[in-house]
Amino acid sequence: MHNDIQEVLYSEEQLQEKVRELGELLSKEYGGRNPLVICVLKGAFVFMSDLVKRIEIPLEIDFMAVSSYGASTKSSGVVKIIKDLDTPIEGRNILIVEDIIDSGLTLSYLIDVLERRNAQSIKVVTLFDKPSGRRVEMEADYTGFTLPDKFIVGYGLDYAEKYRNLPYIGVLKPEVYSE
Ligand code: 5GP
Ligand code: MG
Ligand code: MG
Repeated sequence: MHNDIQEVLYSEEQLQEKVRELGELLSKEYGGRNPLVICVLKGAFVFMSDLVKRIEIPLEIDFMAVSSYGASTKSSGVVKIIKDLDTPIEGRNILIVEDIIDSGLTLSYLIDVLERRNAQSIKVVTLFDKPSGRRVEMEADYTGFTLPDKFIVGYGLDYAEKYRNLPYIGVLKPEVYSE
């Protein structure tokens, strides 16, 4: 285990199992619809990569980068598009892939932007959900794990851009924040 990690919440095996379940479900839901699967960078990149391997139907992928946190552990409420899609989405079935929903501000902004582009449908799959953090109404269509209000890292999720490469989900030791 990494020295800064206090506790492992989900092991690599638990994550893979959940991703396989979600992939199976999404394969059924999107069969014959050639969905455009959108990864919200950076946090969702590991989940996205594992998930699309488990969605066993034709699909396309694209990436979008937004920022709302800076180096803090709480949302600033200000969301910025850093990288937009390369693909027009008019008439497409869109599946947004998120790492985690906390306040809901990032996603509700993103969905607002995409809704103006006349997609056929827009749905959201998130690996983690922290419902107690909501500041706007927002519910994913597909959720992996529901969490209490804890700040997690690993499997794509960072603290100050670190720990994204951990293959499991963990909680940091308190002293890591205060250093
Ligand atoms: P929201 O806008 O819903 O508050 O936050 C969404 C984004 O904030 C997530 O996509 C993620 O990048 C970041 N975030 C929210 N909660 C956590 C957390 O517990 N750990 C990490 N590393 N990032 C989080
Ligand atoms: Mg995210
Ligand atoms: Mg982050």
